[in-house]
Formats: sequence, C-alpha cells, structure tokens
Amino acid sequence: MPQLGRLVSDLGPDKVLLDRPDRVLYRYDAIAEGAVPLAVVLPQTAEDVARVVRWSNEEGVPLFPRGAASGLSGGAVPTEPGVVVAFTRMRRLRIEAARRLAEVEPGVVTHEISEAARPHGLYYPPDPASYKQSTIGGNLAENAGGPQCFKKGVTGDYVAGLEWVDAEGAVHRSWREAYDAAGLLVGSEGTLALITRAWLRLEPRPRHTRTLMAHFPEVGAAAEAVSRAIADGVVAAKLEFMDAACIRAVEDAFHLGLPTEAAALLLVDTDGDDLEVVEEELERVAAACREAGGAVHRAADAVEAERLWQARRAVSPALGRIHPHRMNEDIVVPRSRLPAVVRRIQELGKAYGLPLAQFGHIGDGNLHPNILFDPKTTPEERVHELAHAIARVALEHGGVLSGEHGIGLTKRAFLAEALDGATLAALHRIKRAFDPGGRFNPGKVLP
Ligand SMILES: Cc1cc2nc3c(=O)[nH]c(=O)nc-3n(C[C@H](O)[C@H](O)[C@H](O)COP(=O)(O)OP(=O)(O)OC[C@H]3O[C@@H](n4cnc5c(N)ncnc54)[C@H](O)[C@@H]3O)c2cc1C
Repeated sequence: MPQLGRLVSDLGPDKVLLDRPDRVLYRYDAIAEGAVPLAVVLPQTAEDVARVVRWSNEEGVPLFPRGAASGLSGGAVPTEPGVVVAFTRMRRLRIEAARRLAEVEPGVVTHEISEAARPHGLYYPPDPASYKQSTIGGNLAENAGGPQCFKKGVTGDYVAGLEWVDAEGAVHRSWREAYDAAGLLVGSEGTLALITRAWLRLEPRPRHTRTLMAHFPEVGAAAEAVSRAIADGVVAAKLEFMDAACIRAVEDAFHLGLPTEAAALLLVDTDGDDLEVVEEELERVAAACREAGGAVHRAADAVEAERLWQARRAVSPALGRIHPHRMNEDIVVPRSRLPAVVRRIQELGKAYGLPLAQFGHIGDGNLHPNILFDPKTTPEERVHELAHAIARVALEHGGVLSGEHGIGLTKRAFLAEALDGATLAALHRIKRAFDPGGRFNPGKVLP
C-alpha cells in the first residue's frame, strides 16, 4: 500500500483529498467512468506537481492529470486506483498586451483568457463549445478546437511556450524550437508530461462579424453547401453543422426558434476589419447554401447572432437531456468527402436502429456523430459496433479518428486500425522516452 501519509506531509493536508466521498467524484469525465482514485491532489504550484511526481516514482503509483473533466474520450478517468492530479487550483493568469501574450496556469478556464484580454482589444481564438467549463490544461492536452478553428486554427497554433514537469519530477520550460517539445506535448493527453504553465498568443479582435443560418431539406445538402463555399475560396470565421436530431433536441430543451422541420442546418460567421469583405464573404456562403437547396436567414443583429450560437453550444447538453448515455465520435474527413460521409453515417444509424445525432465543426471536416442509448435496453456491444463502423467510414474516406477530443480511453482500441505498425511502434518509443515507468495516465491513447 503506498504511503499516502507522506504525500500529505510533502504537500500539506489542504492539497490532498483522502475521504472516499471526495475521491469518488474524480472517477468521471463527461463521457466515461473509471476506478476510484486512492487520493486526489490539488497542487497550487509547479513545485507541488513536481513533488507529487517524485512521490509517485518512489511509491510506484500512477498519476491521472485532470482539468475540468469535460473531456469526451475518457482522458482524465483513472484506469486503475492511482492518484488524480486535479489542476483546478492553478489559476494564475497574466496578460502581456504589448507582446500579445497570455501567461496562464493549467486550471484557468478557457474563456477567462479572452475576458482578461478584452480591455486590451485582444482575444484568444480557440473556442471549444465547452469554453466556459474546460481548462486550458485540458485544451492543451487535447489540442482542443472549436467553431473558430476553421479560420483561426486550434489550441496548438497559439502556444508560444510551455512549462512542464517530467517523469523524474524536474520542471522544464520549452519554446517552439529545437525538437519543439512544446509542440509534442500539445495533444499528448497527459501521457508524456504534466503541463504547469503556458504562454499563449493573443490576436486583435476583428472589427466586424456577420452571421447567417441556412437550413436544408436533406442532410447531405448541407455538407454540399460547405464543400461549394470552401471550393469558392470562402474562409468563414465559423462554419458549424447540426442535423435534424440536434435541431429538435435543442428546440425541445431551449425553445430558440430553430426550424424543426429541417433535416440539417449550418451556422456561419464571417469576420474581419473590412466590412465590405465580411459582407461579401457572407453573401458567397449564402449563395453556396442556396445552390445546394438551402434556405438562408441572416441574423439581424448581434443579439440574434448570439442566440443562434447559443443554439450550437446547447447541442451537447440538449442531447444529454434525452439520453444521458452517449457514445461520442470526433472524426475528421476531407471536406470534399463530407456529403458522402454524413449520408453514410445517417444510414448506419438507421441500419443499427439506434438514435444517432450528428453535429460539428464542419468547416474543418470535423464531425461528432453521437450514438444515444440507454444501457438498460441497448447492449453496449451494439453501441461499440456502430461506433466502430463510423470510425471505419472516416478511415475509408481518408479521414482520422479524432479532431479535438483525443483518443483517450474510448477510441484507444480503434487506433490500431488507424495507424500502421511502424508508426505505432515509434509512438510507443516516444512514450517510453518521456515516461519510462509508464506512470503518466496509463491505459490511454496507445493500444
Ligand atoms: C458540452 C461540451 C462541448 C464540447 N465542445 C468541444 C469543442 O467544441 N471542441 C473541443 O475540442 N472539445 C470540446 N469538448 C471536449 C472537452 O471540453 C475538451 O476536450 C477540453 O479540452 C477538455 O478540457 P478539461 O479541462 O475538461 O480537461 P479534462 O477532461 O479534465 O482532461 C482532458 C485531458 O487532458 C489531460 N490534462 C488535463 N490537464 C492537464 C495538464 N495540466 N497536464 C497534462 N495533461 C492534462 C487529462 O489527463 C486528459 O487526458 C466539449 C465537451 C463538452 C462537455
């Protein structure tokens, strides 16, 4: 049995949770459930984190890093009774406006960065729909994306540098140079190192934004509109997709006035400093939607635009209201394949007789097919079979398994099909080089 008493004396009693009712709360993320941890550590500094790592080495206990646990691939879930390192108390945030940089600790909630940068006319573009809950540590570990990522890029594109604790308990600072260790740690899902600080690039806020909603009588037509608009050279600020199941779920839950008869809808923003260009881009998207058979509605003002985007952010909670259990996919396919892929996935849902909802950052080719199920009436094997079939659709169309939610626990088994043996072996060598004892987030990512 590991010496938890020494962990408490190393860190101080206020930073370690040992009571079972407290520990049980740290076995979940937003999609999966794992083992009850032996202890939960709430570090306040990088030195606290380093102490925990050194203790875990001496005691041979695995560590499971955790941010806000909004993850959708089981990444923060303990796969065995180890110690959860929850970063929620590391929340220092400093804006360096002159350098357009934010210096943040991992427990800072994503949207707080843009709020802190607002008085300087700056913002932090990566905007996962969970941005009011997720932490920047979780975003870095998953390389999170969001509606703006089609135009602005994902979390990793904004990383200037990282501070991290290695498997020996040493603290490092890496910039985007040499072997780009910071780049390697972005998206490493807590399996290579523990991130204790980040320097993130900020951007000036665009002066103008325009918004439209287009709805379609058939799901593939929405995807065709996206392919047309992008082929026409449009770079929308946001380009999001919801199918009929999502539209109805959101409308039933929140009554936002969405067209419930539609088979799919797109939400689109264009933005920039030149109003003429912003308007022209929106008009080109509108034309592509009409050509694909869609009906277009332009938001009259910022208030209506915000209401439409609220609908997009409400998709996950609204689906959760219908069925608290769901299997969430995160595939990315080439944009030209989108119409075929959304149609095929819809057919698969029907063939399996399981409720299936699709939404996502379609401008990036990133789709989130969600299988909704009740474990009391639907065998989980059937759900996994359908999830596997969807993953295969992505691979057959030249796509990948994860755009932003990570491989974590839930997609780990599929990775063996997605990667060739030599590549997988190279990834295992990277893991061993960073974490020879296999104590950082074991049982995740690599099969
Ligand atoms: C309603 C909803 C909408 C969502 N929308 C999006 C979206 O649009 N885009 C998107 O990308 N994701 C989205 N997600 C998924 C989720 O919010 C993201 O994956 C987010 O990045 C997770 O952040 P977190 O703080 O909750 O991390 P957690 O779930 O706690 O952890 C995620 C991973 O990060 C690791 N980790 C956490 N902190 C550290 C650290 N300091 N050092 C090393 N590893 C660490 C964990 O071990 C785990 O592997 C959504 C989730 C929900 C519930």
